[in-house]
Amino acid sequence: MNLTHVEHIGIAVKNLDEAVKFYESVFGLECYGIEEVINQKVRTAFFKVGETKIELLEATDPESPIAKFVNKRGEGIHHLAFHVEGIERALEEAKEKGIKLIDEKPRDGAENMKIGFLHPKSTLGVLTEFCEEK
Ligand code: ZN
Repeated sequence: MNLTHVEHIGIAVKNLDEAVKFYESVFGLECYGIEEVINQKVRTAFFKVGETKIELLEATDPESPIAKFVNKRGEGIHHLAFHVEGIERALEEAKEKGIKLIDEKPRDGAENMKIGFLHPKSTLGVLTEFCEEK
């Protein structure tokens, strides 16, 4: 598989608007987009730091995986996302190497990306995402 860079780091927050203000006032970053991802029951806000982005995630539903994460572990780093070339093949290759996948096939993510998650139980405890432009 061909990982090109860390595309983003996903951070689970309780209140997206407050978290955006925090990143803007403390780190001097500028939020360039807020987007709701219906199929993941989240609202996201994006910041650029060089080639890498910070993706803040707020649950829009108590059944959202982000709501469950925040209830169990509090706010914090939720996942690490690598940009890959050829996401379908990268997911297949991970599976061939015995990695448990959350997504066997890519699905739609924020920012017009195809995304797929690897299960943290088989990735040293880090929820890992692959993503690629559509
Ligand atoms: Zn992500």
